[in-house]
Amino acid sequence: MDGEDKYTLVRENILNWYKDNKRDYPWRKSNNLYQILITEILLQKTIALNVKKIYNDFFANYIDFKAIYNADITNLQSDIKELGLSNKRAQILKDLSTMIQTEYNGEIPQNIELLKKINGIADYVSNAFACFGLNHRTFFFDVNIKRFIYRVFLSQGEKVKAESIYAELDRLLPKTNFKYLYWAILDFGNKICSKSKPKCELCPIFEECLYYM
Ligand code: SF4
Repeated sequence: MDGEDKYTLVRENILNWYKDNKRDYPWRKSNNLYQILITEILLQKTIALNVKKIYNDFFANYIDFKAIYNADITNLQSDIKELGLSNKRAQILKDLSTMIQTEYNGEIPQNIELLKKINGIADYVSNAFACFGLNHRTFFFDVNIKRFIYRVFLSQGEKVKAESIYAELDRLLPKTNFKYLYWAILDFGNKICSKSKPKCELCPIFEECLYYM
């Protein structure tokens, strides 16, 4: 099998697995850019189930950036305490909403690089938002995506560089509808290719995996 065939096979098998095994999260059905961006901040350094628990109440209370901008920060901290790091997270939400409300009239700036002016917003949040919200073919990874890419495609035992992960994602992501592959990898990393004791015996791509070989 040549190199490109491996990427095609992994892509198709993971997307097929995802059809039957996807996790059901409300933010994956949203087209609201405000909600998609804020959700990426809520999802940082916590588990998705915690975000799911507060999602509906949070967006009922905070319907737009203006609502966060006007909120008392102690109330905001209390409303997201379930996620942990509530002081830091509330400050990021406040700073972002203040910037968007006062400098961009409540609209997310076209240039998403500007989001990184906010302390606490780095490549992952801005690139994930660009992908899930704006349909841009961006590259980003968390621990689940990194582990999957490393195990399947990279030389085992070598130090993993961010550039290597980005290069593999570029080869693996389809030309369109790439967000589904990101969601598929996130769910696959949670359910099958977990950090300890990956379920390789249930894995549809074990024959392609360098970790398994
Ligand atoms: Fe992960 Fe095991 Fe599948 Fe490799 S074979 S991708 S380590 S679950």
